[in-house]
Amino acid sequence: MAVTTRTPLIAGNWKMNLDHLQAVATVQKLHWTLKDAGHEGDSVEVAVFPPFTDIRSVQTLIDADKIPFALGAQDLSAHDSGAYTGEVSGAFLTKLGVKYVLIGHSERREYHAESDEIVNAKVKAAIRSGLVPVICIGETAEDLERFGASAVPADQLAKALDGVSASSDVVVAYEPVWAIGSGQAATPSQAQDVCAALRKVLASALDEDAAARTRVLYGGSVKSGNIASFMREPDVDGALVGGASLVVDEFAAIVRFEKHVGV
Ligand code: PEP
Repeated sequence: MAVTTRTPLIAGNWKMNLDHLQAVATVQKLHWTLKDAGHEGDSVEVAVFPPFTDIRSVQTLIDADKIPFALGAQDLSAHDSGAYTGEVSGAFLTKLGVKYVLIGHSERREYHAESDEIVNAKVKAAIRSGLVPVICIGETAEDLERFGASAVPADQLAKALDGVSASSDVVVAYEPVWAIGSGQAATPSQAQDVCAALRKVLASALDEDAAARTRVLYGGSVKSGNIASFMREPDVDGALVGGASLVVDEFAAIVRFEKHVGV
């Protein structure tokens, strides 16, 4: 497989936390915490995924203060417009400067019955709107016991990518469901094994070039104390962080993982 440099991505999924005022304060504090620590923005991409109602406020702040964070949304509609009460289209998000959108997070699969078919339709809707889908996949504890770690996420990823063109820009987030919010992260070698298997799925569903350039993140109880061990793995290109992204000092320390990786 071709060797390509992939810029690490540290992404904070705020879930249904922080109103728009709290969001603005959090982004300002994160920016200043990283600046005070002498963090240079270029080597790591930072993205925040606030609730929909915060996005305009965060966009205004990021633009006005030239804060080098990418903006993400936590979901989008599979449809482009029309009579879909409560839905938010990809075009609306693009207009707000949103770059990334989470698709198929396990909480949406579990609480909103999002099937692999819906995930695939949303991936295509995101790409049509010029957004980069962050495709979330992962096995439950039961899947792990029955099928091992890679089978379910590999199958979910292949289905999410069905009919997607090889030139598309996507990000993959491997998030074992049993590790999300549990405080029990996967081991770095477990994460590496699955991320390497997912890269093979990228090669067969898209092509070798896509597999080499696409970032595969690990998510599930990532903290400042374990991020470096994940980032040392060759196929782990960043992290999707839930709970720890709400605590500014902790998230800033995760962004500064290079301090601990020892490279
Ligand atoms: C998540 O929900 O995407 C997540 C990884 O959560 P946490 O970091 O809290 O486990």
